[in-house]
Order: sequence, then C-alpha cells, then structure tokens
Amino acid sequence: QSKVLTIGEVLVEIVATERGNGFREPVKLIGPFPSGAPAIFIDQVGKLGQAAAIISRVGDDDFGHVNLDRLKSDGVDVSGIDVDPLGTTGSAFVRYREDGGRNFVFNIRHSACGSIEIKGPAAALVETCTHMHVMGSSLYAPSVVEAILKATRRIKAKGGTVSFDPNLRAEILNSPGMREALAIVLGETDLFLPSGEELFLFSPADSEKEAVANLLKGGVKAVVLKRGAAGASYFDATREVSLPGFKVTEVDPTGAGDCFGATFVTFWLAGADPETALRYANAAGAKAVTRSGPMEGASTRAELDALIAEQRT
Ligand code: ATP
Repeated sequence: QSKVLTIGEVLVEIVATERGNGFREPVKLIGPFPSGAPAIFIDQVGKLGQAAAIISRVGDDDFGHVNLDRLKSDGVDVSGIDVDPLGTTGSAFVRYREDGGRNFVFNIRHSACGSIEIKGPAAALVETCTHMHVMGSSLYAPSVVEAILKATRRIKAKGGTVSFDPNLRAEILNSPGMREALAIVLGETDLFLPSGEELFLFSPADSEKEAVANLLKGGVKAVVLKRGAAGASYFDATREVSLPGFKVTEVDPTGAGDCFGATFVTFWLAGADPETALRYANAAGAKAVTRSGPMEGASTRAELDALIAEQRT
C-alpha cells in the first residue's frame, strides 16, 4: 500500500478578527488554529483515508499538542514529529486587509521546526513511505532543506514517487540556497503542482504550453496547474484536461492549494484518471475556501462527493 510523506513546518495560526493593516495597533485575535502548509496538506491526505505521515518538530507546549491531536485524529502518522521539551512551537499571526491580501508575523525560524532531522523514528518512518510531497515554502532553513532532500532521494531510490508544490512567497524565494534546493527537488519530481505564475518559475516561456513542454522534457511526468476560482488543468505527454472550479463563497483562501494538492496526489496514487483526480481536487480546494481557519477546510471523501453531486451538470 502507498504511504505519503511530507516534511516541514507545523505551527499555529492566530488570526485577527477584524480586517486591517498588520499588527501595529491592538486588535482582537482568535486561535490557535493548527497550521503549516505541509501539515494542512497531510491532514487532507489522512482525512481521505490514504496512509499519510509527516516529519517535523514541535515544542512540548499547547501549540504543539493542538497540531499533534488534530493530525492524529485525522489518521496521520505523527511518529516522525519530534516533541522537543526545550523547544517552542512556531506561530504565525495573520490579519486580512480590506483588499483581500494578508499580513503575517511569523515565528518559525527560531521555533522547534526551524531544525528538523531525519534520525530515530523519523528515519524509520521514511523507510515505510512510498511517496514524498515537497512544499517549496518548507525550504526555509538549512536543516529542513537537508532533511527534505535526503528523504526525497531515499524514497525515489526505493522506487517511490515525488510531488512538488512550489508554494512560494516572494519573501522566501531569495533566501540563501533556496533556488538551488528548488531546482534539485524539481529534478526528482514526477508530479508538479504550481499555481498561476509559478508555472514559469523553472521554465521561463512565452506560453503555458511551452512552459509545460519544457517541464515534461526535463523529466516531470505530469503538471497540474492551479487556477484559483477558475479551476485547474492537467498536462502529461499525451493528455491535457481542464476543469472549471466549483462555485462557492470564499471565506478564507488559506489552505486551498494544500487541500487541492493532497486530494490530487491521493487520487493519482490510487490510479484514478486525470479528470477524476482533477474533479476531486477542485472540490477539495473549493471546500477549503468556504471555511475559516487554515486546516479547518480539509474535507472527507463524503463531503467532496456531496459537492460534486450538487454541482453536476
Ligand atoms: P494557496 O492560497 O493555498 O497557496 P494556491 O495558490 O496554491 O493556494 P489556488 O489556485 O489559489 O492555489 O487554489 C487551489 C485550488 O483550489 C484551485 O485550483 C481551485 O480548484 C480551488 N479554489 C481556490 N479558490 C477557489 C474559489 N474561490 N472558488 C472555487 N475553488 C477555488
């Protein structure tokens, strides 16, 4: 049976209840919500009943336990989350602006997940996994980059597969070694899941078609392009499938890409055809934006079936 692994930040999100610009003035907050792009991704994989695991590090504090409890209850193997008695779990303060954008204050780099190592239970866990999912946003610290590259190469060497969501924020793209690490990951990637302009990040081109062709020529087996509310497209050497997004009311966009990716990967690993995988992934992305809180948007298979049935034309 396949088992999906991801590695990276586990943190809590604390959200301002009123829109506005940042945190220079006192504002009411709500939280903690379990969060971190890899954590949201793997929670959605677990919720679909697919074997799933995450390697990370948290402090032995309430913020860490909020995440451990949620992931465990959604079926994720958390044996690779090191609970550091001397560490602190990362946090992010988030405030939505009137224009729909977001301001963040992050406390990740100096928190427990600022260093992640593949040893002990985490090393044993890698041996049980058959698929690695890499989040570009997780390549934020040298030890984490090293852990991700080590697990990615090991799983690939065992005959496993790799998916890669660049999930990049401009502020981390230029951190030291980031572009090199991203290029190494891309070289191991079977399934590439960019969003919008991220398609051109590693393959500058005048058109989508040309960018996709370059990626496929470089060894990527399939590209899944996320297009926000407009839906998504799938490309491989012989097929191209595009499906529109589901019509929903957006409440909180956080986690849409992670839930979409998790669902696509789960269906792809189960051997679903691209159209089916894309339809379920679109449904998961749409469900994610209808709920506030980063990880609150993950759906069960029954919830995805219900949305698909409701909007079937
Ligand atoms: P994130 O904000 O999590 O980083 P992303 O940029 O990786 O997301 P998006 O393209 O914003 O990815 O969203 C991923 C998928 O979620 C889309 O391809 C689509 O299927 C679904 N989705 C996102 N926003 C909406 C929306 N407003 N309505 C319906 N579906 C949506």
